[in-house]
Amino acid sequence: MRSSILIIYTGGTIGMKTDAATGALVPFDFSGIYDEFPSLKRLNVDIEVLTMSPVIDSSNVAPANWVTLTELIRDNYDRYDGFVVLHGTDTMSYTASALSFMLENLSKPVVFTGSQIPIGVLRTDGRENLITAIEIAGARRGGRPVVPEVSLYFQNRLFRANRTTKRSAEALSAFRSYNYPPLAEVGVNIAYNYPAILRTETFGEPLRVATRLADGIEVIKLFPGLDEQILRAMLSAPGLRAVVLETFGAGNAPTSEWFIRTLQEAIDRGVIVLNITQCGGGRVSMELYETGLRLQKAGVLCGYDMTTEAAVTKLMYTLGLGLPRQQTEELLRRPLRGEFTV
Ligand code: ASP
Repeated sequence: MRSSILIIYTGGTIGMKTDAATGALVPFDFSGIYDEFPSLKRLNVDIEVLTMSPVIDSSNVAPANWVTLTELIRDNYDRYDGFVVLHGTDTMSYTASALSFMLENLSKPVVFTGSQIPIGVLRTDGRENLITAIEIAGARRGGRPVVPEVSLYFQNRLFRANRTTKRSAEALSAFRSYNYPPLAEVGVNIAYNYPAILRTETFGEPLRVATRLADGIEVIKLFPGLDEQILRAMLSAPGLRAVVLETFGAGNAPTSEWFIRTLQEAIDRGVIVLNITQCGGGRVSMELYETGLRLQKAGVLCGYDMTTEAAVTKLMYTLGLGLPRQQTEELLRRPLRGEFTV
């Protein structure tokens, strides 16, 4: 059976080609995809393309764009077997992480990809990224999609999207998933890592989309020499609802009285503080050192091995649900879409 795939082009480098006459980079028209890549016809998929208007550089992406994208997927959900989202690489991990939370009961593949070199440039990485992303979005096993979650495909690896982070502005392997293995590795064949793929307990239940995302989120990265006045100012910003605190190592922070007191005061005012490590790999274990334990006693929540992208977007999503504080915290303490390992 052929799969039908909707490609949604949002913008970014992948959608550029060199104009033969002028040599300048101009937008690539994805609606002519079969003319450009006739080999796509050999895949067992039917493809349709939707270009967002306007297409944007992903540095301009805002939560409102995520809402538009989720609504687009919702409105086309029953007509397609899978979705490929073409996105600029700069904030792809944020968008893909946000969608992993916003698309509730997802049971079809949503594969994000992009490229470091425009698709219309000879040495592009975009062609392989696009073609393999389409193949993955259409892959089925026993009548069901192989990867029914939000994933990100880049340079021969398929990752759980909310585990990824962009780590190179230069290398073609731009993305990393330090704390979770690839969902698939691509060589001559696509080798799926079946046990790593999310089990959808809600398979077959209707897709729901959460379209309210909270604002008032701040990321604070600790460094030796962080000033008390500056921290106090950051934690008293008007409208502040939650802080992603990027701590040292296994979740450690200074034990100085002023530091703990300043955090404690913010928490007592109702601000949620989520502790993640600024190390790429590894996790927060607040019981390990006195420095982490002090944070825990102050009411700081453990973010385990979550990326900054997942932590920020999960806070936007959970706070956007408008639940009482205790229930919000309960959602933050457990993985909702495989975004961390306890
Ligand atoms: N600035 C571009 C973007 O993120 C870079 C890229 O697509 O790789 O939209």
